[in-house]
Amino acid sequence: MLILLNSIFLLLKMIKDIIIAVGLTMSATPYWGKVDSTVDWCEPNYVVSPYIAEFFNTVSHVPTPFYISAGIFYTWKLASKEWRFVCAFASVILVAIGSIAFHATLRYVGQLLDELPLMLTNYSLLYCVLCCKASPTMSQSEKWKERIWIGLFCMLGCIQCVIYIVLKWYAVFFISYGCLLIGLLLYSVSTIRDAMGKTHPSFLSMKLFKYACITYGCGFALWCIENTFCKKVQSFQLHAWWHVLSGAGSYLYILSMIALRSHYLKRQTNLQFLHLCGIHVSVQPVVVCTQEKEDCTAVADNRKSK
Ligand SMILES: [Zn+2]
Repeated sequence: MLILLNSIFLLLKMIKDIIIAVGLTMSATPYWGKVDSTVDWCEPNYVVSPYIAEFFNTVSHVPTPFYISAGIFYTWKLASKEWRFVCAFASVILVAIGSIAFHATLRYVGQLLDELPLMLTNYSLLYCVLCCKASPTMSQSEKWKERIWIGLFCMLGCIQCVIYIVLKWYAVFFISYGCLLIGLLLYSVSTIRDAMGKTHPSFLSMKLFKYACITYGCGFALWCIENTFCKKVQSFQLHAWWHVLSGAGSYLYILSMIALRSHYLKRQTNLQFLHLCGIHVSVQPVVVCTQEKEDCTAVADNRKSK
């Protein structure tokens, strides 16, 4: 009898040890697998939810695809039917979705989806500003110029992908990204200044550009503060605020480019605000072309006849 009781006791102890071991193994393995991204941000992993690695960094990008989609819809309907702006908006949506995948999983694939679309955004914004003076009914030489720019950007994009994915020269990738961003900002300033003081859309473009720079700049400052003083500022979730501000900054920059394009197309342009579900609270600015009867083609025809 004693031997039997002893055997049962040993068996129960063994089952208990197995359960504890399995439990420990499961809790040690994150839901999305072992973190293999080259960077792990300040926010502690899997604290708020066992299914999301960095909760605040993930949810802070969730609204971006929605308000950028609204931007695409209202720009197409009320301001411009040029595909370059759709591409620019869509690239910001891609960045946001990639960023959600990255922060939710902290896997290397997610990191690629977050960081590679950044250069797509850069190139599409650069294309918007480079082509802002183009005539809507392009001449043959303008068409070739456009093709050359697109070809050049595709080639540079492929080179950057090789640098990042194959060679893994992350510093080179981010330096080239930063240089392109600075070049984009400087060229935008000079192009908007060229147009300044002549029409209302040019003033609007400059105003939106300033707001874009302030918003994006504040976000970048918060990103730097969190990376430098992580432990002291961890509770403020500054990386999540960077997501909110960088998304809004990119959106305002594209609106600025739409207003600049309106200046060169000689269209009456205003800024209007979308209301939240019928409530009279202005939440999202959109550029509206009020000269609806005279479309881009008509403007070009008028120019030719003069
Ligand atoms: Zn992020």
